[in-house]
Parts: sequence; structure tokens; C-alpha cells
Amino acid sequence: EAVESLNFIEHIVEEDLKNGYSEEDLRFRFPPEPNGYLHIGHASSICLNFGLGLRYNAPVNLRFDDTNPAKEEQEYVDAIKKDVEWLGFTWDTERYASDYFQQLYDWAIELINKGKAYVDEQSSEDMAIQKGTPTQSGTNSPYRNRSVEENLSIFQKMKDGEFEEGTHVLRAKIDMASSNMLMRDPIMYRVLHKSHHRTKTDWCIYPMYDWTHGESDYIEQVSHSFCTLEFAMHRELYDWFLDEVTDTKKLRPKQREFARRNLSHTVVSKRKLLQLVEQNVVTGWDDPRMSTLSGLRRRGYTPESIRNFVDTIGIAKRDNLIDVSLLEFHLRDHLNKVSPRVMGVLDPVKVVITNYPEGEVELLETENNPEDESAGIREVPFSREIYIEKEDFREEANRKFFRLKLGGEVRLKSGYIIKAESCTKDTDGNIIEILCTYDPKSKSGSGTEESLRKVKGTLHWVSVAHALEAEIRLYDRLFTDESPDTHKDKDFMEFINPDSLKVITGFLEPSLANAKSGERFQFQRIGYFCVDPDSTSEKLVFNKTVGLRDTWAK
Ligand code: ATP
Ligand code: MG
Ligand code: MG
Repeated sequence: EAVESLNFIEHIVEEDLKNGYSEEDLRFRFPPEPNGYLHIGHASSICLNFGLGLRYNAPVNLRFDDTNPAKEEQEYVDAIKKDVEWLGFTWDTERYASDYFQQLYDWAIELINKGKAYVDEQSSEDMAIQKGTPTQSGTNSPYRNRSVEENLSIFQKMKDGEFEEGTHVLRAKIDMASSNMLMRDPIMYRVLHKSHHRTKTDWCIYPMYDWTHGESDYIEQVSHSFCTLEFAMHRELYDWFLDEVTDTKKLRPKQREFARRNLSHTVVSKRKLLQLVEQNVVTGWDDPRMSTLSGLRRRGYTPESIRNFVDTIGIAKRDNLIDVSLLEFHLRDHLNKVSPRVMGVLDPVKVVITNYPEGEVELLETENNPEDESAGIREVPFSREIYIEKEDFREEANRKFFRLKLGGEVRLKSGYIIKAESCTKDTDGNIIEILCTYDPKSKSGSGTEESLRKVKGTLHWVSVAHALEAEIRLYDRLFTDESPDTHKDKDFMEFINPDSLKVITGFLEPSLANAKSGERFQFQRIGYFCVDPDSTSEKLVFNKTVGLRDTWAK
């Protein structure tokens, strides 16, 4: 056997293959509820299920778990499909739990006929009280021993829309003394007079998750149904429903659980992400500060970086918190390989090169990506007046300051060596202009002795006359707390970082004029940026994806 470390989920499948399953039996699914956009936590589940599909050449269904019309929408279905595809995966078939409503209903009738389900007419409060506590058995509902005929007739009326929401439910008749609270006559159907995004008004009773999920797995002949740990206690119920309705000759799906993945300084819960959208804390589900896949994409993340991150963290048996810096490590690692380099100055100060001829413009050649020779070269215009970053100049500085200081020299990236001679200031003492001289023989790549001369610092720059002004959106963490939704006494909304977005104007080299929405670049010495879809032909908008180094303080 190849030397390869398998995660515990893969071990489960391997064991099954040794004990009677054939590879043709294997089938998986990714089952999102279309009640929001997918987030980085879902990426773990997607990579796990589709990864198994690739590993065993087995089909993986994309199944929408759409049993709650109150929260589900077509918009979410579309967004989920787009995100799974963007991550790089292809599903075998697109399925909907709602396609199984009739089959589920028929099976529910079967359960009623077997005396295994009944209609309860109590309030949800009364039923909750009767459930008892984990250490005390519950009390039977007064409706528990209704006749089959009565149950069939009332269930029919439920289906026909004769009852108000909250007045009737169908319950499985299991065991009100079970040590597993979920087995104490769980609800299978409730009345909801809501239009469903697919079945519209065909139904006014909707099946519960536990009743739906295992049966859907069975209908699709999913061999392994992997879900997160909070469903561990549901497994007994999942199995009970399968025992009651399935044909033993067919493959019986099995549910197994793995840990949810949480990311630091954010939330990964559709409900909480929806709250951020609805309360306008962010501009939408795809706001670049969101932990959603669409937000990460808009921020400039590549699918490769997300898949590498998910691979690295692996599949765990216990819930834990992963630091966002690990995600960013994989992001930088990939962007470094694929991003074209460009120059942009975000906090400019003007440099005048006094011995450079006025009105002259020359085109300097520069490489597009030192990590990738095939990326080629481009030309950037150079002239007498350029911008550099304010922080790259000091009037006085110690020997460790390798940037520009009065009397000191630096090389302009792909250009000349300049020397700062003096600077002019406004009445408040702010530097307005730095006056420099340049060494005409020092041009990079010209092969002269002067061009090879080593100076300590190299600065990025942009010609003032040619600079392209662009809106630059700088992002910080959306939450100030590492784990905002785990505090007992405080709501996660209390930890919103008020300074998570800063908008500035940047001055970019003119080659960026034709940059298209979604294109990614490295602004040399600063970080990675990508073109935001808000860009227009008049004004480009860039998102800062991530800095070159991890600069966030712990
Ligand atoms: P949310 O609370 O965000 O709505 P969910 O689990 O209800 O999460 P689903 O749409 O039901 O969302 O999730 C689809 C699949 O993705 C499920 O199998 C679920 O267990 C898995 N999943 C969801 N969140 C995570 C996470 N943080 N880490 C790993 N897997 C996850
Ligand atoms: Mg769910
Ligand atoms: Mg949910």
C-alpha cells in the first residue's frame, strides 16, 4: 500500500471496502441548505466529499436540503452552485430534497399504518414539557394512541391545508423514555403555509431535517453521509427511520460525523452572516470582509489557496478554531506564484528629479513576475516627476533605514539610482516635494558599471503625469475578537471592528488601465490586490487581498 496518510473519514471508507463494499457502491453528497451563501467552513465539507469522489472515482451529488420554505431562496441555490464550481468541483447530479416530498409523504403514511407515527395537536410548549429531561423520562402525549384511521384522516387534512401553522404535527412514535432526547417522539412534519422556491404551494406540510436527510441519502443510494458533529446524536434517529422504511436489499447509507471548522476573527454560520448583511454591517454576502466563498473570491482569494488551506487543516474529530493567518499563508503562497507584479503608490509624496530633462518620457522595461519567466516583460513610463510612498522617505534616519533619506541613495525599481538633495515643506511642516538628482548611467539592465552598482534600497514609484488614480479598499478583520461568537455574556455583534474598511486613492502605473474585474496583481512591496466588480470605465476599484507579510498584531 502506498505510503500516504489517510484522514479518519477515509479510513472509514477503506474499512468498508475491506468489509464488503465494492468501489461501485461508493457514492457521496454535499448537502447545503439554500438558506444563505456558502462559507469557508463549507469548503471543508465540499473538499471532503468531492475529494472522496475523486479518490474513489465515485459520484458526488449536490443535494439541496430545501425543507424549510421560510428561509430558502433560489438566489441561494444559484450562489451555492457557483461557489462549488468555482472551488473546482463537478457534481454528478443536482438533487433537491423537495423532489422527494411525495415519496417522503408516502413513507409517512406507511409509518402511520404500522402504528409508528401519529398526529399531535398540542402546543409546542406542552410537547416540550412532556419531553422531560435527559435524566427523567418524558410523558406520553394524550394523542399518542390515536387509531390508525384517525391519524390517516387528520394527516390528510394537514396536507389539504385545513389547519393553521403550529396546530398539528406528525410525530414518530418511538420512545418517550429514551436516553437520547431526539428519540422521544420526534416531529416528522409541521404545517407551514409558505410558498416553496421550487414546489410553490403544492405542499403546506413540510418534512423535518431528520426525517428527510437519511431518506434522501437512501433514495440517492449515498453510501456515506458525512456531516458535522452536532448531528452525532441524530444518528440513532437517522438509523431508526431507515430501519422503518427501507428495502434491505438496497444499499443502506451510513451517517458519520466530523468536526466543524471555525476560523478566527470571523463567524461561520449562515444565520450570523445573514445578520451582518441584513443589518448593513457589510455591503452584501459577497462583501470582501465576509467569510463566505463569494466574499473571499471578491477579496481576491484563489480556489487553489482555499483548497490548499483545507487540505492542510485536514479533517478533525473535535471542533476547533483555525487562525485566519494560516488561510492567508496559503493565499500569499499561491498569489506569489501567479500574480503579475505592478507598481502602485498608495500614500504618495512627489519626487522631482532636478537633472532629468523636463518633458521627457522614457519607457523602462520591467519583468511581470520574477517567479514565472513566461509572464514576460512590460514597459512603464518614467519622467522627471514621480510619486513614492511617504513612508519611504525620511529627512534623517539611522543606518538601518534602507529607503530614501537626505544625502542618501536608492534605486527606483527597474530604473535609475536617485539621491535626495533637499525637500520643501508647507507651513505645517509637511513635506510637499523631495528634490533628487539621478545618475543617468545607472539605468537597470543597461549593463554599465553604474547600473550594477549596489545600493541598499529599491523603491517602487509611479510617474506623476502617467499615474492612474484608483479607489483602493483596504480591509482589516471584521471582528476584533478571535472568537466573537463564543462569549457567554456578549453577542458576536459587539465585537464588530469599526475600522474594517478604509477607502483611499492610489496612484497606479498606467498598464492597469485595462485591468478587468477579478484580475489579481501584486503591488510591489505592498501586497496583493484585485479589481473589484464595482469598477467602471471611469474609475477602477481595487480590493487589498492581503499584505506581503503577516503584519497583523496578535
Ligand atoms: P450554518 O450554520 O452555517 O447554516 P449548516 O451546517 O447548517 O451551517 P448546511 O448548509 O446544512 O449548513 O451545510 C452543508 C454541509 O456543510 C453540512 O454537511 C454541514 O455539516 C457542513 N458544514 C457546515 N458548516 C461547516 C463547518 N464550519 N465546517 C465543516 N463543515 C461544515
Ligand atoms: Mg444544515
Ligand atoms: Mg444551518
